[in-house]
Amino acid sequence: DLATLIDVPAPGPNHTQDRSKETLLDAPLVPFINEPDTNPALIQNQQWATKALATAAEPGWLEKQTKPEVLEEGDVDKLINDVRDAAEAWAARPARERAEILYKTAEILRVRRGHLISVAAAEVGKAVEQTDPEISEAIDFARYYAHLALELDDVDNAEFTPDRVVVVTPPWNFPIAIPAGSTFAALAAGAGVIHKPSKPSQHCSAAVVEALWEAGVPREVLHCIYPANRDVGRALISHEHVDRVILTGSSETAAMFSSWRPELTINGETSGKNAIVVTPSADRDIAVADLVKSAFGHAGQKCSAASLGILVGSVYESERFRKQLVDAASSLIVDWPTNPSATVGPLTELPSDKLHHALTTLEEGESWLLKPRQLDDTGRLWSPGIKEGVKPGTFFHLTEVFGPVLGLMKATDLNEAIEFQNGNDFGLTGGLQSLDADEVRTWLDHVDVGNAYVNRGITGAIVQRQSFGGWKKSSVGLGSKAGGPNYVMLMGTWADAPSHH
Ligand code: GLU
Repeated sequence: DLATLIDVPAPGPNHTQDRSKETLLDAPLVPFINEPDTNPALIQNQQWATKALATAAEPGWLEKQTKPEVLEEGDVDKLINDVRDAAEAWAARPARERAEILYKTAEILRVRRGHLISVAAAEVGKAVEQTDPEISEAIDFARYYAHLALELDDVDNAEFTPDRVVVVTPPWNFPIAIPAGSTFAALAAGAGVIHKPSKPSQHCSAAVVEALWEAGVPREVLHCIYPANRDVGRALISHEHVDRVILTGSSETAAMFSSWRPELTINGETSGKNAIVVTPSADRDIAVADLVKSAFGHAGQKCSAASLGILVGSVYESERFRKQLVDAASSLIVDWPTNPSATVGPLTELPSDKLHHALTTLEEGESWLLKPRQLDDTGRLWSPGIKEGVKPGTFFHLTEVFGPVLGLMKATDLNEAIEFQNGNDFGLTGGLQSLDADEVRTWLDHVDVGNAYVNRGITGAIVQRQSFGGWKKSSVGLGSKAGGPNYVMLMGTWADAPSHH
């Protein structure tokens, strides 16, 4: 009943205790462990999520939440110079203090899990089951990078000089975790940060920055702004005193930034066109589940999403496998996040030309196994689509579409499958479903991706355990694996640069 809905405790095993106000000064930092997601099987967690979504659906609620400040023309120089000055004192503080502030930030995010779910639902339409793990990831980033800051502090001071001004430009598809991770890393190293959100997820970004301010990051060191127009954005990115841009976005955006200022240092996680290979030795039930989850989670709006299923020999021919795949995709509940049972939410923006093409058009030899349908007249809600007969070298084999379409390719053997998998410009994630150890070895030796997953879905990298970053056109700036042991040490310059990068 409604009365119990109002006061449901925050969910999860350790969600009731707010440690954000405590000082951690006297104790060593708690060792890093991954934050658990909320258990959706518990009734109180379902009630809690329902309440968070009802909040998000209140008219005008989102507009009342914190937003970035607008950065006007003429303010760019002052902003950058102020951050540059403030960053000196920030870097001079013991790493231990920065680490504690990050631990406190993690606590604030933990206590605010419900609020963040509301903001992401209201702003980008993200379903609870997708936002929840993202918040765990943000918490993980804070704690993990806190530990890396301490490690960095152990390095001889003469060697490492942190950047002073880092501009963070996150995407809207992971509106909490990516803004959080990039910002935490730069701050951990001792850099000042200008956080420039993606327009569709500005409130999510602002919520993350607010947590950092509350935890103790000085406002002069960390700003959250949105450029008044494109010229202001360009003036910011291309300013001579910007030491680094941490970009997660398209490879086109990375190229544009570089064209504005060729000497700019960019650490970028850019586009992907990812495949899962399924061989006849695979456990087909697991393969179907992993394909569907990786292809259609968050409506395919992930750089890491599976856009291709490369089926070897008899797997492609199997009626049963195809039926299982269609049944599994059809069982997803596609709806607006106000429906707490929705497993696939809306597109955050209307389909791009590329996505529209993928949703509505077949190339030579292709046919629909499951035709995507537009479910309402907003144009943003689409049921999953599966096309078969995708041929090497075609539009769908080569192009990132960033939406709920999975293309199936037929390969005669594992070698051909790997050739197809490696056969585009990108190299972000890739999967193999096989129970044959020789196949696994061959595949690992030859696949050109940053994140290679065996018998597991190909989205949802986990801080420390599976750091995230690509090869080829999926990455800009070497060594930039988010959530990995080398990430914080990227945020500065090394006296003996080559050995560390
Ligand atoms: N880190 C996310 C994952 O492993 C993907 C990030 C992205 O799509 O930008 O699924």
